[in-house]
Amino acid sequence: MKTLHFTKRTVRTILTIMIIFPMLACSIPFLRGNNTSPSSSPISLRKVYSQAVAPSTSDQTLSYKDKLNIILPAGLLTSDQTLTISTLTTKLPAPSKLRKLQSVYDVSLGDQHQFDQNLLLEFNYDPNTLDPKKPASEQLSAGFWDNDNQAWVEVPASVDETRHVITISTNHLSIYGFFNWIAGYSASSSDHFTAIYNEKAIMSGQAAYYKANAPHIRTGMPPFISDILEFSETAYTAYKDAGYKLPSGKIEIEVADFDASELRSLVGNIRISTLSSAGASLLRQDCAHELFHAVQRETLGIVNYLSRHWWMEATADYAADHIAWAPGGTGEMGSDITPKYLETTITNADLVGNHAYSTSHFINWLVETKQVMSFKDLWNLTVNGSNNVLKTLNDSIQTPVPFGYLYTEFARFFVFDPASPDKKTIAISKDIANRLSEFPEATKQLRETFPVDYYTAKLWAIESKFERDVRIERMDSNFGMLSYAVLEGDTRDDMVIQEPVSLIAGETANVHLRDGDYLYILMDNTIDSTSQTFDVQVSETNTPAGIFNMRLGFDTSCDAAYAASNGTYNSYSRLNSEIPVEIKGNDVSINYDKTTGVKHFVAQGTGKIDAKGLMTLTYTLNYTLQEDCNGTPCTGTESGFGTFTGSWNPNNNRWEGIGTGSIDVEYPNTMGKSGNNSLTCSASINKTRVVPGFDDPDL
Ligand SMILES: [Zn+2]
Repeated sequence: MKTLHFTKRTVRTILTIMIIFPMLACSIPFLRGNNTSPSSSPISLRKVYSQAVAPSTSDQTLSYKDKLNIILPAGLLTSDQTLTISTLTTKLPAPSKLRKLQSVYDVSLGDQHQFDQNLLLEFNYDPNTLDPKKPASEQLSAGFWDNDNQAWVEVPASVDETRHVITISTNHLSIYGFFNWIAGYSASSSDHFTAIYNEKAIMSGQAAYYKANAPHIRTGMPPFISDILEFSETAYTAYKDAGYKLPSGKIEIEVADFDASELRSLVGNIRISTLSSAGASLLRQDCAHELFHAVQRETLGIVNYLSRHWWMEATADYAADHIAWAPGGTGEMGSDITPKYLETTITNADLVGNHAYSTSHFINWLVETKQVMSFKDLWNLTVNGSNNVLKTLNDSIQTPVPFGYLYTEFARFFVFDPASPDKKTIAISKDIANRLSEFPEATKQLRETFPVDYYTAKLWAIESKFERDVRIERMDSNFGMLSYAVLEGDTRDDMVIQEPVSLIAGETANVHLRDGDYLYILMDNTIDSTSQTFDVQVSETNTPAGIFNMRLGFDTSCDAAYAASNGTYNSYSRLNSEIPVEIKGNDVSINYDKTTGVKHFVAQGTGKIDAKGLMTLTYTLNYTLQEDCNGTPCTGTESGFGTFTGSWNPNNNRWEGIGTGSIDVEYPNTMGKSGNNSLTCSASINKTRVVPGFDDPDL
């Protein structure tokens, strides 16, 4: 069942043959054998009829035996031409599994293929070849041969059961044929649908496995057909009640082992594949999906419908689940959404990956999770817009936030939220990440660039192998949002320990990583039709609970500023020391107090490391020395304060920045000197001692 499920979702689409329809007029010349397309093979013709025709003010009918009549309307020709009818010596394939080719001709009128008015092609049919119990109009259809795609393209045709002709009205000439149902076909109807199928094939193989699931079972037909009619009627009623525009007249549903279920855009009928609609819930989804395509075609017209492929698929899958089968749904909407969904641009409608079906989850998120607007309003908004649906959405949706930011929020929801439509059980770094990095203790910095196509997102997963603080930096200056989150372990199941935070270009952020945490960085680009490159750096900023060393110096080569910088003051100071600086998380402190004999030194300070990794530290110093002032005890003092402002440089393994300081020295006896000074200098706080073995102040 799973395999069938996947197959079905892979193939349900608007078929390629429909996409070429707007180019139909251009596809004519290759039929004459001058086509160079490698996919087509030349058609060989045998001329059977040739007749000169002149411009006329009345209709002209030209007949080839009792097989084919060509009716040229008055005024069609502006010069003398030759009408030629040829049979084909190349054998063409049957138009479908349910139809066989009755008759085929190449018709040409001089070298003109395209006309301002429609002319009529009337094929005579033999009623003896048809099932007498069923109307000929139900059994016959017609089309032209698309040699490029090696396929028949059906066109609307009318059947005259008195004259036994099937008539095509067209403004271009090429190879035309008409078809009838293969022997043994059956037709079963409901209020708005007629299902056409081969009962023997359905019952013996194509859908023999199928057990009817609808509460209402129609008798006299296979269960599979009964459910198709029942499900299609359910969808029809739901769409009609919700105010959607449906085609008039009965909608034909062909049922066979087609490659795909589809709405055939040119003729407007539906095909349901026995291969792809394997179970009842999938069949419900498929019938309603294809019928919503009929709504779209009816609302937009064929060309606009075909020009909005991704949006047609996304809305059809949403409507099937949330309108036709509301409440409850089919559970099959965009159900094969893949972990890599965000890596493909939203407007992509390629068959592989079924990306456009999966976009129904984005619609669901807009409509139901964010309640931006109702689905009907969203649909109408795009109906009234151009064929560039993404532009319409971008231009029109500004609340609660601009449409691009809604995509950003959806991307976060998809990646970080346990309720994500990709089923939440996957281990996200392995299955979602565009890139996966390890961040062991020895590595101090990671940097990656990510090309991000428009309306896509990429995820960088970083597995922390060591507890530490790190800084995330946007090194690029592009528009576009970077979001990050830290998860405990390689899964998002109830493990979000930090809500995603956004970072625009040039911003930095600090996070704390424990051993085993995953840092996820999500980059999304919501500039329409423009690819952008994100450049992201993740650096170690400090180590937790570390004791560092700050040297107190005496001149401009000091490591941390303190004391007088020049002149005689140098020699007054007794201090030449490294003092310990403790860093715990974002807190910095100095608590030093030491007495040796008559000497006493106290240093105290506090500081912070801010969100951007910048340390600011202030401290005070007090040094006293007991002296003998002519037999009387006296005290010599040095007192001062200093500041440090700087960032962690992982390459040099130290904090680097600017130090300022000042000192006031009073030595009444021993030195007999006093004075004060201040300075500013390049300063650092080091993980290892600058002067090996240098321990206490010079006490
Ligand atoms: Zn579709």
